[in-house]
Amino acid sequence: MTNTRAARLYAHPKMAGAVIADRGMATSILVIEDEPGIVDFLRRGLAAEGFHVETEGDGERGERRALREGFDMVVLDLMLPGRDGLEVLESLQRAKPALPVIVLTARGELEDRLAGLEAGAVDYLIKPFSLAELIARIRAQLRAQARASTTTLRAEGIELNLLTRRARRGEKEIPLSATEFELLAHLLRHRGEVLTREQILSAVWGYSHDPATNVVDVYIGYLRRKLSTREGGPAPIFTVRSVGYRLGHAR
Ligand code: CA
Repeated sequence: MTNTRAARLYAHPKMAGAVIADRGMATSILVIEDEPGIVDFLRRGLAAEGFHVETEGDGERGERRALREGFDMVVLDLMLPGRDGLEVLESLQRAKPALPVIVLTARGELEDRLAGLEAGAVDYLIKPFSLAELIARIRAQLRAQARASTTTLRAEGIELNLLTRRARRGEKEIPLSATEFELLAHLLRHRGEVLTREQILSAVWGYSHDPATNVVDVYIGYLRRKLSTREGGPAPIFTVRSVGYRLGHAR
């Protein structure tokens, strides 16, 4: 849902203002910030750009809402009552790695406080900042997210990047042959569906094989071996007896 919304906005950047009346369509941003002046400035400025804005002045409440509700983006101050912004950031990155967060921070705070985080993993703005600058960052994040959602297939902790052609399960990089890659992409696109051997054969191998061939079973076996990891357990590719295979649980 989030990705679709971001993609729609990306496809029609001029539409951002037009969706202002429809909260269901507008990009929703949670601002977690305790300084009333900044909250007011952000609320008005972002709403004028067509974003739907919600605010929380407390780290703990902000974190809870960001985790529970389907915001498209979070703007997060670091110095917060309730719960430290850095802890909120780490918790969001763990639970919702695809949720874009823009950090607001005072000059000088940055080196000390962001030192523990991966360089470049977080977008931040140093106070005082202009609204134009923040909006440019927000739009850049939404574009990046829309791109990622069309180039990456994700399910069951498996991530397949269609541009770089790299696969991961959790933290582990999985080297795949070209055929294994296409097979996994097909399973991910149809996650939760039972696919027959014939469907898989024509989608991945692309021509009529001898129906008696066991090439699908052989390659499913290769994928299962490669995808099973110590952290993730066995590969989430299930055999559906006398029908075929399914990635993930039935929908
Ligand atoms: Ca603050």
